[in-house]
Amino acid sequence: VQQIVFISPGRVTAETAADPAIESPTQAIVRPLAIATCDLDVALLHGRVPMQGPFPLGHEGVFEVVDVGEDVRGHARGDVVAVPYHVSCGGCPPCRHGRTAGCTGHGGADTGLLAGQCYGLARGAQNWGGFLADRVRVPFADHMLVPIPAGVEPVTVASASDNIADGWRTVAAPLAAEPGAPVLVVGGSPSIGLYAAAIAVALGSEHVAYVDDDPDRLQRAALLGVHPVDGLPKRLGPYPVTVDAGAQPERLALALRSTAPGGTCTSIGIYYAPTELPLLDMFLADITFRTGMAHSRTVMPDVLDLVATGRLHPEIVTQRVVGWDDAVAALGSVTGKLVITGPAPSAAAA
Ligand SMILES: [Zn+2]
Ligand SMILES: [Zn+2]
Repeated sequence: VQQIVFISPGRVTAETAADPAIESPTQAIVRPLAIATCDLDVALLHGRVPMQGPFPLGHEGVFEVVDVGEDVRGHARGDVVAVPYHVSCGGCPPCRHGRTAGCTGHGGADTGLLAGQCYGLARGAQNWGGFLADRVRVPFADHMLVPIPAGVEPVTVASASDNIADGWRTVAAPLAAEPGAPVLVVGGSPSIGLYAAAIAVALGSEHVAYVDDDPDRLQRAALLGVHPVDGLPKRLGPYPVTVDAGAQPERLALALRSTAPGGTCTSIGIYYAPTELPLLDMFLADITFRTGMAHSRTVMPDVLDLVATGRLHPEIVTQRVVGWDDAVAALGSVTGKLVITGPAPSAAAA
């Protein structure tokens, strides 16, 4: 297999490794059609994530099924599918409750982001490889492979595996509880905040504001039908639904200060250091705060359906699309959502 490996910040390399093979009758082998960088990959490549290379990179993508084990019933060679970033079995208690990122049925010892069950990240990449490979092995294939609806281009939904699903979970449940509620997204990470804001518009929020200090993201927000707010004030709103997509303590504080009494604030941020929360203010205003990994497998069908209806346009968030042969150079200078199209079938290993 040809794969792209993260070495250290700013440095990736292409290398050849052993071809992944079907090791159990419920597994599948897939080949990439479109792979995206996660916001975490961008942070990793810029040296802001405490993970040591080398490991195979990539955990967002759309694939074509090239082989299935004999017990796989729901998928066949040629199917076009998205694969979630996190391995899950579909049958254990957390999976049955929709908490697929907490799967305990995968056979590994631990659960969680850094525990070895995510493609393309740290220990998980040692176990499962990364999506930036011309062949990828997928366990629990009937559960893990999510069909792409007819008419949806792989390049458009390459981030459905993780970042678009991550945006979805910040607004879908609060808007289901309070239909039409105004939403504030505090941006900062390359794509998740924009996806969250665009999904809030698509799900019927009466007013969606996106606050950030990045001109490129503010421009994309406007194209997504979102009200852009330039700069980082101390407080906005208040809004019944807020999102911290900044992953910086001061942006988290802005989201929390802007949450209306009784409202919900969801953070997609990964805070590696202890971070202050204004718990007294939150208590007095009855604010619900949510954090944690996205259970993307559970929401991916809804995300893909929303794109298929034409109400959500993730391609507006994408900064750059490059071919497979340009992937290494593009990753070395990545600043936002990068989508890499797969190698031609004839060029891939048989
Ligand atoms: Zn990710
Ligand atoms: Zn499970």
